[in-house]
Amino acid sequence: MKYLLVLAVVLVAFWVWRNNRLTDDTDAQRPSARKKPAPRQPTIMVACLHCGTHLPQNEAVQGRQGAYCSAEHRQLSEGAKP
Ligand SMILES: [Zn+2]
Repeated sequence: MKYLLVLAVVLVAFWVWRNNRLTDDTDAQRPSARKKPAPRQPTIMVACLHCGTHLPQNEAVQGRQGAYCSAEHRQLSEGAKP
């Protein structure tokens, strides 16, 4: 019976700590986010200016005129010397 009480205290302490942590995070940024969790950011897709292939923006090669799927296509499209 003693261990059951200890277990209950630990569970309540954990629950309080977790609630405090969650509310601290959302309150710091935006209070409206407390009702529903913020949706995951969608992956932004960009099209290669040379061949039109769609790829995630963080994998694209940035050229002067826009995004490319590879450095080769950037060179072909912008005429830059390798
Ligand atoms: Zn391309």
